[in-house]
Amino acid sequence: MSQLSTGTTNLTMTIGGAAVSGGSSFDVINPADQSVVGSAPECTRAELDTAVAAARAAAPAWAAVPFEQRQKLLLQMADVVDAHLVELGRLVTAEQGKALAVATAEVAGLSYWLRETAALTLPEAVNEDSAERLSVTRRVPLGVVAAITPWNYPIGQLSFKLGPALLAGNTVVVKPSTFTPLSTLRLGELLRDVLPAGVVNVVSGSGDLGSWLSGHPGIDKVSFTGSTQTGRAVMAGAAPTLTRVTLELGGNDPAIVLPDVDVPSMAEQLFWAAFSNTGQICLAAKRVYIHADIYEELTRALAAYAATVRIGDPMEEGTQLGPISNRRQYETVLDLIEDCRRQGYTFLTGGTPEPGPGFFVPVTLVDNPPEESRIVREEQFGPVLPLLRFDDVDDVVTRANAGEYALGASVWSADPDAALAVARRLDAGTVWVNEIMHLTPQVAFGGRKQSGIGVESGHDGLIEFTEEQTITVRHHTAPAA
Ligand code: NAD
Repeated sequence: MSQLSTGTTNLTMTIGGAAVSGGSSFDVINPADQSVVGSAPECTRAELDTAVAAARAAAPAWAAVPFEQRQKLLLQMADVVDAHLVELGRLVTAEQGKALAVATAEVAGLSYWLRETAALTLPEAVNEDSAERLSVTRRVPLGVVAAITPWNYPIGQLSFKLGPALLAGNTVVVKPSTFTPLSTLRLGELLRDVLPAGVVNVVSGSGDLGSWLSGHPGIDKVSFTGSTQTGRAVMAGAAPTLTRVTLELGGNDPAIVLPDVDVPSMAEQLFWAAFSNTGQICLAAKRVYIHADIYEELTRALAAYAATVRIGDPMEEGTQLGPISNRRQYETVLDLIEDCRRQGYTFLTGGTPEPGPGFFVPVTLVDNPPEESRIVREEQFGPVLPLLRFDDVDDVVTRANAGEYALGASVWSADPDAALAVARRLDAGTVWVNEIMHLTPQVAFGGRKQSGIGVESGHDGLIEFTEEQTITVRHHTAPAA
């Protein structure tokens, strides 16, 4: 497997604008071959305190920087990211395992999100402008934001947090996943030349760093993306100080395929809806309900399409899917496949893990398992997909809406009106018709039920990094009658 050439062992944390190596470090593993990609500093409690203190110290001056100036700085950040696309993309592939072209596009997504976020505004609302009184409501920054990200899109998930938090006037302490800290550490290094010291701090760690950070009394807001289980811990940790939280959590997104679709093109679209990034996307299709009239034909076409997809070394040109990103997730996915095998469900393709040093799992299609099976009810977050047969729209809507998650959903049909009628009945933060996972910097997304609290992106995502403040000015000093 291809290795990174240089530089990955010396990456430093960014604390108060300075490089911090930390006393010790931990290894970051390449999931394609289990080699060591590099090492990351192990942030101590004292170093975290310093990072939070640096962010607090920088906060008043940053909040006082005129909004237009902060917009310009976001554009400069975007330029720096673009100048290092290839380097950052290779780091993402090496530590995360996705195909290099996809990783580079993920990094390009950060600069795109920064530029588009820079165009957002936070106008003051005038409540009253009379002879007696001026009353305005404005959005003020919260202070110090903890940005905690998962390993599936180390840079992509940060792009929903970093620009909006900074534009709103907050300073930030970023903590990437233990599995994928390198690209974020490097980003922190690159941003030192653009932003005042302390405005963006980046820390890395393999132990309790996430809970130290989210429960830190110096943090005003936790913007967290990760599993529902960890989200609950973050919320509990934030409770004593009433720290604000935005939680972007797990999903078990249903895709509903009506009987009038064009089967061959549907097979290809469904494949990528479920298996992009080796199935490790919160908004991927995680259970597919197919109308009985086309169930056999479409599931066969899906298995045939799967056989054409190239899985392998993500650094190699032409690879479409890489390995599972880390051992923990690899074992979770293997356990779900093993459960399917034990229960006697049929695999239309896949089902047998591949030997080898990397965390490779073949694309696995499970033929119509019971609705209450683990593979239907749990978030698999990997390349194993239950295909489920339905006859009746009312029944499929009930099944799609069951469970604790409500992140995304999709409906597929040649008749957009019919699909829309189904879409309106689905319980999810975002419902797509005839497409999936389309996100833009202008539109907020978030989870309902236990898929999260709050939203990211767009104007609504920006105001999550602010609080409302109303100021009234009475125009004369005479006491009110
Ligand atoms: P995870 O919850 O294990 O970890 C997420 C982050 O939290 C990591 O940085 C981790 O180190 C940190 N962390 C761990 N324990 C913590 C604690 N007690 N307090 C604070 N932080 C802690 O999630 P993961 O395995 O990295 O990511 C996969 C999950 O993320 C999936 O469930 C997926 O659906 C979800 N996800 C959701 C979205 C969304 O937008 N809703 C996007 C991507 C991923």
